[in-house]
Formats: sequence, C-alpha cells, structure tokens
Amino acid sequence: MSDSQAAPQVAGPFPLSTLRHSVSHLMASAVAKLFPGVQFGFGPAIEHGFYYDFDVAQPFSDEDLKAIEKEMRRIAKTAPKLVCVEVDREVAKQRLAAKGQSYKVEAIDLIPVGEKITFYQHADWEDLCEGPHIDHFGRDFHFKLLNVAGAYWRGDEKRPQMKRVYGTAFWSFEELEKHLRWLEEVKERDHRVVGKQLRLFHIDEMVGQGLVLWTPHGSIIRGELQAFISEELRRQGYHQVYTPHIGKLDLYKTSGHFPYYKESQFPAIVEADALAKLSDEGCSCAELTSRLDGVSAHFASTLNARTGREVVGKDKVLPDEKLVDGYLLKPMNCPHHIRIYASSPHSYRDLPVRLAEFGTVYRWEQSGESGGVTRVRGFPQDDAHLFVREDQVAQELLGCLSLVKLVFGTLGMHDYRVRVSLRDPDGAKYVGSPENWDKAEEACRAAARTLGVPWEEVPGEAAFYGPKIDFIVRDVIGRSWQLGTVQVDYNGPIRFDLTYTGADNHKHRPVMIHRAPFGSMERFVGVLIEHFGGRFPFWLSPVQVALIPIREDHAPYCVELEALLKAEGFRVDAMLEPSHMNNKIKEAQKQRVPFMLVAGEREAAERTVTVRRRDTREQETVPFEQFLALARRLRDGRGLDLGPAPASATKPQG
Ligand SMILES: [Zn+2]
Ligand SMILES: [Zn+2]
Repeated sequence: MSDSQAAPQVAGPFPLSTLRHSVSHLMASAVAKLFPGVQFGFGPAIEHGFYYDFDVAQPFSDEDLKAIEKEMRRIAKTAPKLVCVEVDREVAKQRLAAKGQSYKVEAIDLIPVGEKITFYQHADWEDLCEGPHIDHFGRDFHFKLLNVAGAYWRGDEKRPQMKRVYGTAFWSFEELEKHLRWLEEVKERDHRVVGKQLRLFHIDEMVGQGLVLWTPHGSIIRGELQAFISEELRRQGYHQVYTPHIGKLDLYKTSGHFPYYKESQFPAIVEADALAKLSDEGCSCAELTSRLDGVSAHFASTLNARTGREVVGKDKVLPDEKLVDGYLLKPMNCPHHIRIYASSPHSYRDLPVRLAEFGTVYRWEQSGESGGVTRVRGFPQDDAHLFVREDQVAQELLGCLSLVKLVFGTLGMHDYRVRVSLRDPDGAKYVGSPENWDKAEEACRAAARTLGVPWEEVPGEAAFYGPKIDFIVRDVIGRSWQLGTVQVDYNGPIRFDLTYTGADNHKHRPVMIHRAPFGSMERFVGVLIEHFGGRFPFWLSPVQVALIPIREDHAPYCVELEALLKAEGFRVDAMLEPSHMNNKIKEAQKQRVPFMLVAGEREAAERTVTVRRRDTREQETVPFEQFLALARRLRDGRGLDLGPAPASATKPQG
C-alpha cells in the first residue's frame, strides 16, 4: 500500500527500465506463441518491473505463467536481436488490422501525426513500439513473472477488461533473488493480510466500500495512539473539542469547500419536508443541484468584499425563493472549529487558541481499494486548528513539529523526511501579503530544520492560501509513505471574518494553522501495521500477555494472575481451553502477543512465571512481581522493544 516502494536499483549495460521493457516484449512473444488469437495491449516498464496487457479468452493460471516463462527462456536462448523497422502509418495499421490486433490499431492513432511509426522485431515476433530496448536477448539477465490482475484497456472501465501480467527483471540473479525476498516481506507485512490475521478491522460490503469498521483489537491500537497524541496535545496547551459529522451548506459555501470540491464529496442532504415541497413544484434533479449550489446576492457580495476577489461568481447567485438549504457530511473539520473560535471574542492575550479533535471527515473516493484502509470514504484525522497572531506562527510551527518528532521517535520511525511547499515566486494567485508569506515560509523552514532530518523546499507547491509542511516516512523495509501535513492559512480567517482585539484595541486578523501530521487514523494505523509487521510494541498490542497453563490443573493459578494483570489495566488472554500447551504457544505467536507466561506446579508454588517473548525460544522463570514491574515500565514508557530479559540473578533457586 505504500506510496513509493524503494527496491534496490542497479545499473547494467542498459538502464534497468530498458531491460525490463525489453523483457515485456519477450513475454509478449511467448504469449503469442502459446495463446494463438490473443490480442495485445501495452507493455511498459514500471517502478519495480514491467507488465503487459493481454485480451485472452481464459484468465492465465499459475501453470500458464510457468509455461510462458519457459517459452521466454527458450526464445531468449536463441539470442535474437531486437531490430527496429520504420513503417508508414497506414501500412502499419493495415499490418496490425490483418493480424486482428485492434488495440494496436487504436494505439497507432494515439501517436501524434508526423511522428515515426516503428516496430521492434525479435525472432518471428514484432511489436509496435518506440523503444528503447536492449540490443539482443543473448545478454545475461534474470526475470520472473509475478502475478496477473485485471486492467481495463486504457484505464477506462467502459472498455474491455484485459489481463495484466506483471513481472520483473534484473541483470544479476542475486538482485532478482533479493527483490523476490523483498516482495515476500512486503506481502507478509501487507496491512490487509495482517489486519485479517490479527482481526484489527473489517470492511463490510453491507456497510460500504471504503468505510472501515474498527474491530475490538484494531480499536485498541487506535485508542492507544489517540491517547498518546492527546496526552501530548494537552501538554502543549491544546483544547479538545467535539463537533458533529454534518454542517449546513452555508458553512461550506463560506469556507469554499462547497460547491467547488463537490466531486470529492458525498452529495448534499436535503430535509425531507423541503424535498417533498420541491418535488410537488416539479423541481428536477438538475435544477435541485444548481439551487443547492446557489447563494443569495447578499452572501456573494459579502464574501467577495471580504476576500477582495470574486470567490463567488454571478452564475451562483439566485433569488432568495430559489435557494434550497441543505447539509453536508463534513469534508473537513476546519469550518466547525472556526465557528468555535468565532463564538466568543478574543484578545491578543488569549492567542494562540488551539482546538484539537480526532474529527471524522468524509470524502467521495471513486473506487475504494478493496479490503484496505488507505483509500477510505470516512476517516478521523488527528486534526487541530490553531488561531494565532502573526508573530506566533513560527513558535507554533515549532510546537507542531516537536509533536511529530516525538510520535515518530516513539514509534521507531527514524527514517523520515520533510517537504516544505512554498509559493511560486512569480505567481500572483496568493492570498495574504508577500511580507507575511516571507515570514511564514521562513518559519516553515526553521521548523523543518529543528527536526534534524533531511528536508527539501518545493517552490510553487504551496496552496494559494499558505505554505505547508508534509511528512514522508520510510518504513523498516525501505518503502515511503506520505502521512499528514501542517499548513499555514491566511484565507480561512478572512472568509469567516475572524478577529481578535490587539494591544492597540483595534481588530486584527488571526492566522490559522491546520495540522494533521499523521493524516487519517486509518492510514496511519495501516502504515504502522506494515511498519511493525503486526509486531506492535507492548503498549500498542491488542493482547499484551497470554497466560498458558502447562496442564489443565494449573488453570487456577493462571486465573489468579489474569485478575492481577487486568486489575492493572493490562490486556490479557488466559488460554485455558483444553488443548496442548504447545498449540497455545503457537497460537499466541501467530497473534504476535508480546509475552507468554507459562505456569505449572512449580510456578504456582513459588509465585513465579516462565516468561517467553514473542520472537524468541528462550524462556526464563522470574517472580511474577518482577514481570509485572517490566510490564508497567514498557507500558508507561511506551517502550519500543520488549525490554531486557529479566535478570538471571533473581532467578528463583531450586
Ligand atoms: Zn518496446
Ligand atoms: Zn483544517
């Protein structure tokens, strides 16, 4: 699920991407031989390999892939050259049409008129392609076909669905092996797989795609994370707020979220009575839509005057009797927080006002990633809005970033970088004065510097209303994830006419900082699942301790320990069912439970436990109190590993 996967890239006699694309030709030639009548789509090199799209009657089986690989090897053995031939456009079309290759005929039309049409030939196969390729297949290279997926021709779901065969290729066998091991690791850590094994979340067709159900185990992780972040926010002087999941359309028309970002939102909600009245009047759906989008002349002129620009066009203005009121599932938490700020007067001494909420927002994602938590339609963000004086922007950005540093550090994510998006020096579209922008941009740079990690400036990437800071984390197997953002905003306070009273007794405009450094909780937990491969630190583990009696008659001692641990708030699974101890140990390991406490006659008599950690075979018998002290320390200190093995000096004798 990562945004970018960092597999090793090594240069060969030709760039790796050239080799990989050439191998896609090799694959196509093998498929042509084995599956007569197949139609060919495109076959480019991609980040870690290549693919080719085929239109075949039967989907490819694993056996088919093996047969294709074998045929590829056979063809490669003859070391055919890749020969380029230029062909007249019409001739090329006729040639492909004669072979029944309708996708390829269409592909010719995609090549701009005037450009050369070239075929690359090897053995008795040719493919429409502009190159480049390697010179011949007699070179030493190594490849593997990986999997098959469905893909629409030209990505259009109205066009036929083809079978996309993915593969990869390297110049050396060692690199290929290394890459395949890496892919295994990626697969093992996949949050969809681990999420199912550990019962962390559930996506239910009956509830809806992209709507995540947090099951009890996943809720523990989310709850612990939220508690951790909230604790830190309280320390930094934030106030917790709660706001509803919907708001009136006028709120979002004022903020600018509606109707301008309509395509990424759920449609507006209209009250039943109003809807009945509109339907009596014979209002069509199209008319309803434009009436929902509309504003009064007063609304338009007020907002346009406030912002000094035409943010609401004349085309949106409707007579009052035409306006229809509605509600929106909130696409952002900011407007609600803004109204909390606006609900009372503020003096310069009250600022900054910092409002935090794990607020759920709703976005209309065209197609949810199936079974995953990265493209979701409703998700809580670790959101907060800071209303600050201009002279406080720098200090507050530092605060935001110190939280990021703490959270990443606690989770063992030390490999991350920061992207600071600045305005386009030649652009004129920006809200706020250039001097303020200079100050805010410098504040972003200064804050980024304090993290002590690599950071880059990206001019021209800022939003029109302010600069921003993004975080990109690399996980333990080298993949990059874009998480949340910290953003300076001059525009929101203008649109909502926010003020505070300055020391001069005049009204001043605050600046807003939006910050959700970890993004959505779904995505963040998804990243953590893969980062830890399900082996969460003790404080985050859904089950922290498994109690395993050696024999059934040792159960009473385990029940006693369970009560003691639960009384201290630890999450315990007493595995008392009648099955063999070894099966229970296996099951606890499968569930990645950090500690297994095995107890038999001797342990009960001496009030000890035999401690076994998740990933080791070693075990050690220690007084129960000693284990308890370790558990408290790991929980309260939010320790990353499972602590030192209990000191053997205190090992009970006898
Ligand atoms: Zn090619
Ligand atoms: Zn916001």
